[in-house]
Amino acid sequence: MNPKRILVVGAGHVGLYAALRLSKKLSSREAEVMVVDPQPHMTYQPFLPEASAGNISPRHAVVPLRRELRRCTVVAGAVTRIDHSRKTATVQPIVGPTREIPYDHVVVAPGSVSRTLPIPGLHEHGIGFKTIGEAIYLRNHVLEQLDVAAATTDPQVRRQALTFVFVGGGYAGIEALAEMEDMARDALRYYPELKPSDMRWVLVEATQRVLPEVDRDMGAYTVQQLLKRDMDIRLDTRLESCVDGVVKLSDGDSFTANTIVWTAGVKPSPMLDATDFPRDDRRRVTCLPTLQVVDGDQVIEGAWSAGDCAAVPDLTKPPGNYCSPSAQHAVRQAQRMADNIVAVLRGREPVDYKHKHAGSVASLGLHKGVAQVYGIKMTGWPAWFMHRTYHMSRIPSFNRKVRVVVDWTLAFVLKREVVALGQLHDPREEFAEASRK
Ligand SMILES: Cc1cc2nc3c(=O)[nH]c(=O)nc-3n(C[C@H](O)[C@H](O)[C@H](O)COP(=O)(O)OP(=O)(O)OC[C@H]3O[C@@H](n4cnc5c(N)ncnc54)[C@H](O)[C@@H]3O)c2cc1C
Repeated sequence: MNPKRILVVGAGHVGLYAALRLSKKLSSREAEVMVVDPQPHMTYQPFLPEASAGNISPRHAVVPLRRELRRCTVVAGAVTRIDHSRKTATVQPIVGPTREIPYDHVVVAPGSVSRTLPIPGLHEHGIGFKTIGEAIYLRNHVLEQLDVAAATTDPQVRRQALTFVFVGGGYAGIEALAEMEDMARDALRYYPELKPSDMRWVLVEATQRVLPEVDRDMGAYTVQQLLKRDMDIRLDTRLESCVDGVVKLSDGDSFTANTIVWTAGVKPSPMLDATDFPRDDRRRVTCLPTLQVVDGDQVIEGAWSAGDCAAVPDLTKPPGNYCSPSAQHAVRQAQRMADNIVAVLRGREPVDYKHKHAGSVASLGLHKGVAQVYGIKMTGWPAWFMHRTYHMSRIPSFNRKVRVVVDWTLAFVLKREVVALGQLHDPREEFAEASRK
């Protein structure tokens, strides 16, 4: 019997966990697990705010694919097309011509991208917060703004440099805002020219609350904490434009800012447009609770999906509800999906995915947090501690867990690192200048 090929598209939370489990459970005579991702690593996104704030080394918030997936074939490239009617994917390797890869089963897990709106100036001035590149750029950029503000004598330049706008009050936005402000406030101890009150941290949220993943009282607590830190929280407000860094809000206010971070939600990967998979009205791949792709009531044989790009019915809620885009679901769905693929390959029936969302934990900076897990509510230090222990237990591999704990310990003993490495964003500049002479 020829081994079946299982093609895993995307090695994020779903792809990495599914590939790991498949490669452990299936012998090489049964299946070849091939993983395609343009990045050489899986990004543990819940650690992006901590990596951005300098509590964790950026390298430790990602998991190297080749080190973890030793029993899989790893292809560095992007899947640009899937023709499931021919069970063939088109892959654009990071170098060279495209190639077609036939498969027996496909795991569709390219995740999501930032969901933006056609706001004037956003494309030119905004930045997302979904990748390790964005998190590290933002860290260097924010620290660089402190240097700009300290160096200038022009009050307008200083004000603009020290105004940081975050759009979207979900956990990604709130954690990014709170961690970055905490880091900048910490860094100011080395800037005698600047005071914390010179900084302006603005949150723009279109609805009347933040953190929709937790109860209203926990969202209100979070707003109170941010207000206590002198942040400017604008609920029920939308960003209307940011042309040339001039931020205009729907409440009529207008000011200039060098930093505009967009964290207002996600949408399924646009790569799905180049596939023949059925999609729902939010452009997600439609799935059964078994994680099999389904068209109406017709199961699409050999096609599986999960995570941010998939509409997976939430069996713990009334019909019509779907699992939220979260790491919590993605990782568990990946494991159920891998077990189901193994079951189907061995002639058994797949089992439904069912997990009651346990709640959320969010860090609001060092020693500050908010958590609601299995109905238990926590704030302050206990919530922050829970955030750290939970995510430390969740990041894949023993190697990463140890490195993250060492990073935290070093930052505790030696204080966190607050140096900007903005040169990383244009490393050839100096050499190009020298070689021009
Ligand atoms: C800042 C931040 C904080 C978060 N915090 C939490 C949290 O505290 N708790 C929680 O539960 N969730 C959290 N989330 C959400 C969680 O990270 C996502 O729901 C989860 O990553 C979804 O997993 P996924 O596998 O679907 O997508 P991802 O993990 O994003 O993986 C998608 C992968 O597909 C790859 N890919 C994309 N396009 C292609 C292509 N064409 N071909 C091949 N590969 C491709 C990408 O490179 C990536 O590796 C957070 C998200 C962010 C951004």
